[in-house]
Amino acid sequence: MSWLTEYVRPRIRTLLGQRDVPENLWQKCPECEQMLFTTDLAKNCKVCTHCGHHLRANAAERLVWTFDPDSFTRIELPKVPSDPLRFRDSQRYSERLRTTREKTQLEEALLVAHGTIGGHKAVVAAMAFEFMGGSMGAAVGEGIVAAAKLAVLQEAPLIVFTASGGARMQEGAISLMQMPRTVIARQMVREARLPFITVLTDPTTGGVTASFTMLGDIQIAEPGAMIGFAGARVIEQTVREKLPEGFQRAEYLFAHGLLDMVVRRHDLPATLARLIGLLRVPEQDLSAAA
Ligand SMILES: [Zn+2]
Repeated sequence: MSWLTEYVRPRIRTLLGQRDVPENLWQKCPECEQMLFTTDLAKNCKVCTHCGHHLRANAAERLVWTFDPDSFTRIELPKVPSDPLRFRDSQRYSERLRTTREKTQLEEALLVAHGTIGGHKAVVAAMAFEFMGGSMGAAVGEGIVAAAKLAVLQEAPLIVFTASGGARMQEGAISLMQMPRTVIARQMVREARLPFITVLTDPTTGGVTASFTMLGDIQIAEPGAMIGFAGARVIEQTVREKLPEGFQRAEYLFAHGLLDMVVRRHDLPATLARLIGLLRVPEQDLSAAA
């Protein structure tokens, strides 16, 4: 205890009143460590105003940033049996789900909506890293399938924003089954001759990377996003070699041909609109094919 904590802080609190100093007023940039005013950060789509670092965004923000203003409608996703294995680690899985739902106000780690991007119809699925690390369990798998079905129904492209730590451990093999399940969803979109675009955000790892994410007609990533299957340390220990600089980062993957584009967050809506415009089969062609 010093005079700062004992004397100065209480005095400041009395002067300002506690309600005037919310704890989340400032945020530190994880890259350049500058303090950022939360309102400025929100206005700048959570991109650091000093160094341009792209901070993690939640699924709801993704939808708002991507669609034309007030153009989108969220859809309800299919219900799946919760806690099929009656799993328990330090806490019951059912309990963990309940507290996460309360905290995030989300039902699961995925949001799906349809609307317009630059005037073009589109279906967007956004993974929620804030919901148990965006892990892919049965609900997320079913959600991706529902998004694909909606895209086919609406004859609209499907865009998926990925953000995931991988499989939902608490659902064991059921979680792994979502890998082929989401690949089938991707296939449905392909068979309907509609574009499937993936936008890889920080972090995209594990089973999500190893399934539908890398099957996009066009694969975009945000600058600096961590993208990979296994963690760098695990790979380093297995191959017993030092990994190159920037390994598993968006720019490195782009340079090595795994991605088509690295696009700044501010430029994403315009880029997506342009791509949809280029990839869309004109209506007269569709009627000619039928
Ligand atoms: Zn920064």
